[in-house]
Amino acid sequence: MKRSLKPTEGAESAPENGTSAKNRKKQKQKQPLKHYVWLYFMVMILCILVLLWLFQYFFLPRYYRAAKIREVIAAADSLINKFTSDDLHEYARQVTFNQNMYVLITDNDGHDVLIENNMGDYSFFSEDKNSNFGKTIYQFRQQLDEEENSYITKIARSDDFDRDEIFYCTAFTSGDGKYYLYAEAPIEPIDSTVNIIREQLIYISVILFELAFIVTVLISRRISSPIEDLTETAKEFGEGDYDVEFKAEGYKEIEELSIVLDDARNEVKKVTDLKKELIANVSHDLRTPLTMVKAYAEMIRDLSGDNPEKREKHCQIIIDEADRLSGLVNSILELSKLESGSQQLTKTSYSINEQIEDVLKRYTLMIEKDGYDISYDPDDDRSICADREKIGQVLYNFINNAINYTGDEKHIKIRQINKPGAVRIEVIDNGQGIPKDKLSEVFDRYYRGGKVKRETVGTGLGLSICQEILKKHGFAFGVQSEEGKGSTFWFEAKEAPSQPEAKKNTQTKQ
Ligand code: ADP
Repeated sequence: MKRSLKPTEGAESAPENGTSAKNRKKQKQKQPLKHYVWLYFMVMILCILVLLWLFQYFFLPRYYRAAKIREVIAAADSLINKFTSDDLHEYARQVTFNQNMYVLITDNDGHDVLIENNMGDYSFFSEDKNSNFGKTIYQFRQQLDEEENSYITKIARSDDFDRDEIFYCTAFTSGDGKYYLYAEAPIEPIDSTVNIIREQLIYISVILFELAFIVTVLISRRISSPIEDLTETAKEFGEGDYDVEFKAEGYKEIEELSIVLDDARNEVKKVTDLKKELIANVSHDLRTPLTMVKAYAEMIRDLSGDNPEKREKHCQIIIDEADRLSGLVNSILELSKLESGSQQLTKTSYSINEQIEDVLKRYTLMIEKDGYDISYDPDDDRSICADREKIGQVLYNFINNAINYTGDEKHIKIRQINKPGAVRIEVIDNGQGIPKDKLSEVFDRYYRGGKVKRETVGTGLGLSICQEILKKHGFAFGVQSEEGKGSTFWFEAKEAPSQPEAKKNTQTKQ
């Protein structure tokens, strides 16, 4: 009965659809980026305008009044500082002119020492002096003496002037005498200035809002349009087009994002290609021996069953193919175990020279029978700390590959180079070599050189297993190769820390 793939596909995609539908629902509740940019910008402009209005329109009269008071006090105090100088009168004239002030300095007995009036008939103090015998002035002096303050300031409305005035009175000593200073100055109204500013502020507000609108539209377009482009590309990518190119220009962050996305796309593409290749390779690798097993089993049943010689030969082929099958399945299992991290290393300290010699013993028959020249160039014996079995597997794999891919001269050399804290092992062959652009891929799963015949050699998993083993040990490893000249596969095992003899061979789990 034929099984349909459809229900499985549906079952797989259902949760995905559910998640994306949920994501889309969430997405709908959010506003697009340009709206946020626009909103934040407008809020900022609004804040700026509120501040401008507050400071330029509402607070300005108060600021002005406070500043004017400070100025009058400072001007009056500067006269006190100049009191003993010869040019006091000239200086006083200048100050009162600049500040539009009236200034009177009297001694302790009430005699005038200095009078400067730049306010003319409008001066309250002057009027008081002329027509009221200085009654108000005297009241100021009394209040100052009673309160024991160093000065008094008063703001009062002048009906003549129709504006506020500031009155300032302070006492000071100079030489042996005590003196009193009275100052008066009008606070000019700034209503017309405020009105001009208000008019200008209305224009500024309108212009700013319009400008802000245009600028936000431009900024948000500049920010969001590359993101929208990337989203479009990502959608295509999500639909399975792995050849799309994430391209975005405009500003640094988006360019970086597009580079990262492009890298991720490359990785996903690689993994998907690998997955496809893996399925193709595994099914191909499994199918070939299975076809052979089936074919030879049928041959025994139909033809060679009665012929012991042929039967034995065919049975041997079936056994070899079954071995190949189980070897392949074991490799796949081992790699997945190593990659998932479920396989533990059993580390011991042991002699690397001994191990290499042990491994080479297994090749004696091959050396004699097939004329291979496998030599070992040892350095001083060193102990390494590693999982002996797994490092043995790496050595076998490197040597088997060297044998499989070596040239007609059949020279293979294993070289040991002792380094501080590590032992470098190199497996060198003088075979076909590996093209430069493929060097970075040889350790990838199912990578196989183009010229290799699948049926004859390897599974394409050997070097990936080596890579996982060496990575797990934390050993450096790699390959150097020159096309037509040969390859050198190497790893650097960490030297075992020197321990007392008795403790050697103690196993440590990692
Ligand atoms: P295989 O089982 O195919 O040998 P490996 O993972 O051990 O799988 O090797 C992967 C590929 O790397 C091989 O198919 C071959 O193309 C290349 N390779 C490995 N070792 C060598 C070598 N010594 N010389 C040239 N090519 C090699």
